[in-house]
Amino acid sequence: QALYAAKKGGRNDIAVYDAQLHERYLHRQKIEADLRKATAGREFFLVYQPIYCVKSGRVCGYEALLRWQSPARGIVSPADFIPVAEETGIIEEIGAWVIHKACKDSVSLPEDTTIAVNVSPVQFRSRSLVSVVSRALQESGLNPRRLEIEITEGVMIGDTGQALEVLRALKALGVRISLDDFGTGYSSFNYIRAFPFDKIKIDQSFVRDLGQRSECLAIIRAVSGMCSSLGIVSTAEGVETEQQFEILKTEHCDTMQGYLFGRPAALTELNAFETKTVPAKVA
Ligand code: C2E
Ligand code: MG
Ligand code: MG
Ligand code: MG
Repeated sequence: QALYAAKKGGRNDIAVYDAQLHERYLHRQKIEADLRKATAGREFFLVYQPIYCVKSGRVCGYEALLRWQSPARGIVSPADFIPVAEETGIIEEIGAWVIHKACKDSVSLPEDTTIAVNVSPVQFRSRSLVSVVSRALQESGLNPRRLEIEITEGVMIGDTGQALEVLRALKALGVRISLDDFGTGYSSFNYIRAFPFDKIKIDQSFVRDLGQRSECLAIIRAVSGMCSSLGIVSTAEGVETEQQFEILKTEHCDTMQGYLFGRPAALTELNAFETKTVPAKVA
């Protein structure tokens, strides 16, 4: 947008654009420097958000979400530092740590729960991913069936053949594969045809606008129907209200995740969810 304005306008706009670009560049450099220190100094930690299963009426899993506790910045959201970690390649080291930590942590969670870990496209293409997962499973003793690797459609862009190879290798380890943020980005049915995903997570933007926009309901209905025809578990993300919960239940979403069931929390606080999982009206 800034570039467009610069082209349309005169020299002043170009100067403004340059200044903005430079500022952004400096900001990134600072984050990068801090990230490198963070990786060395173990400033990262994981929080876990419960996943609610409609059929059993219970928590059936958790998603591990990365947090950065920076001495200088406070708690930094992954949306702010993961892009920088990806651009700089630091994501490989952080990502490996996340997988190991989540596997270790989940051993202390109920046997019948799954643990979902996000893997970024850059990490996915690193080629070390399969061995990292395999080692984490071995070292933690976690049943591979309990581990879910969440990828986004970004993984499939570029060398689809190589992506499929990695996905198959991961499945061969016994882990499950989820397609995260479905419906954003380049949603293509090709991916779903090419690879047997175990779970599809409908992006929270569709859930958010469920009450206001009829298209969202239509899309959720279609994705949920497709999932059940294909034997894929459907999940709705970002469920915040009981109204959304009721609609999603009617639309046969298998599992749900959102503030209605619990916010991401430290491992030690998770037991509280087991009893408090579902608001009384929902249960
Ligand atoms: P995601 O994988 O789609 O994770 C769900 C995000 O939605 C989380 O944001 C979660 O806190 C948030 N969320 C959950 N329920 C609700 C709700 O009811 N309402 C709203 N508004 N939001 C809700 P978070 O933790 O900030 O993470 C953002 C993204 O960062 C994640 O999206 C994921 O793409 C990425 N991320 C997080 N942890 C990791 C990680 O360990 N590795 C990588 N590569 N990416 C990660
Ligand atoms: Mg996710
Ligand atoms: Mg998501
Ligand atoms: Mg997301």
